Amino acid sequence: MLLTSRVRGTRPTAPRRPRRTALLASAVSVCLVAASAPPAPLGIGDRLFPHLGNPGYDVASYDLSFTYPGTNDKPLQAVTTIDARTTADLDRINLDFAHGKVGSVEVDGEPASFATAGEDLVITPGEPLAEGSRTRITVRHTSDPRDTAGRDGGWLRTADGLATANQADAAHLVFPCNDHPSDKAFFTVRITAPDGYTAVANGLPAGVHRAGGRTTWTYRTQHPMATELAQVSVGRSAVPRRTGPHGLPLRDVVPAKHRAALEPWLRKTPAQIAWMEGKVGPYPFETYGLLMVDTATGFELETQTLSLFEKGLFTEPAYPRWYVESIMVHELSHQWFGDSVSPRTWSDLWLNEGHATWYQILYAEEKGGRPLEKHMKAAYGVSDRWRATGGPPAAPKVPKPGNKVGIFRPSVYDGAALALYALRQKIGRPAFERLERAWVSLYRDGTATTDDFVRLASQISGRDLSGFFHGWLYGAKTPPMPGHPDWKPVRAGRGPAK
Ligand SMILES: [Zn+2]
Repeated sequence: MLLTSRVRGTRPTAPRRPRRTALLASAVSVCLVAASAPPAPLGIGDRLFPHLGNPGYDVASYDLSFTYPGTNDKPLQAVTTIDARTTADLDRINLDFAHGKVGSVEVDGEPASFATAGEDLVITPGEPLAEGSRTRITVRHTSDPRDTAGRDGGWLRTADGLATANQADAAHLVFPCNDHPSDKAFFTVRITAPDGYTAVANGLPAGVHRAGGRTTWTYRTQHPMATELAQVSVGRSAVPRRTGPHGLPLRDVVPAKHRAALEPWLRKTPAQIAWMEGKVGPYPFETYGLLMVDTATGFELETQTLSLFEKGLFTEPAYPRWYVESIMVHELSHQWFGDSVSPRTWSDLWLNEGHATWYQILYAEEKGGRPLEKHMKAAYGVSDRWRATGGPPAAPKVPKPGNKVGIFRPSVYDGAALALYALRQKIGRPAFERLERAWVSLYRDGTATTDDFVRLASQISGRDLSGFFHGWLYGAKTPPMPGHPDWKPVRAGRGPAK
């Protein structure tokens, strides 16, 4: 994600990013609840979002069907089918789900009882499920785009339809799921909408069926995906197609009436992908594209294979071209860092946002003449303040309820990019570049932790970097910058601190 300033006439500021956590709970937190106990919300013990995710199963695939009624003022009808494998004996199955009404639930084709507890849907199958069994859960429900949940995220209402913005904890406001990036799965998404609308989701098209004034569009992912990265777009959209490096199919989704004005930006994607491939290696997915929505969001989001952007980013004349392009590269680089390699916990968010910010700044340097070192020196000056407010990059503070910025604070964006710069200063450019390539290759289509990154960096540089990283990722104060002993924290409103 990238939070972007939308104040006309202000100077572009560096975007903020999120952080990551360490997640320990999985098997340990599985407790079998006696069937007579009241249904309770469960989680997998993420330090930042304790109730996200659920113990006792691993989702293999989601099949999501939505029927859009042609207005944003009514709920969509939906069917969610989950194929999962149990990792414990289960009397009950918890899914994360809120903000929709559940009509019925089946487990392996048999009706199951269900109840709501907090933001969990608690399902009691007729027979308990044994550890290691495959199970299919079918939930018929509504999915409500109206802003009645009192919280952000999930469906995003646009001028001509809907899109989704689920990061970090809002996919379960759209569909029942195991809503944590540690449980990635394959997705099939079907959207039925009245004729005149176009629907697009992550992955490649897998069929279009027209009947009775409605069209059903089907899409399928070819790589596992975290729930937070699911994208479902329906609107009066144009879908221009083109070809990227090595024949990669590209498709963008834009409001049809603004297509001509947006086309010059869409044309930039193939060269940006080639630039990223030159830095870190092959693009990790089956397709890419930009979804430009006609609404003010205040952020951009790296939904897998189809990044979400607000149209205003491309039409606001105050933004210099290099700035807009560097934000495009921020979301593009997330396809490697954050999407293909997902954070194991939300405290690991700096691995997403630190890297996306790094390539954003690097692109601005190479293509926009904005020196990276100058940017890093300025970031160094305020880094201690970021740490005091949001916590260090790899141990972010728990967000306050209702705080719109949530976990997406400067410490995990520029603060984490600063840590990557310190690493490059420490181990040298060749080792740093080898590390980046190895990281996205080794953990492709998986999840990874901060410790994994520290271990790989140590291995590739041939030295133990655990102490170095401890200060940069977990310290209350920013360590000295290797190679720049003159860099100092700057006090708010004053000169450098003594
Ligand atoms: Zn981001």
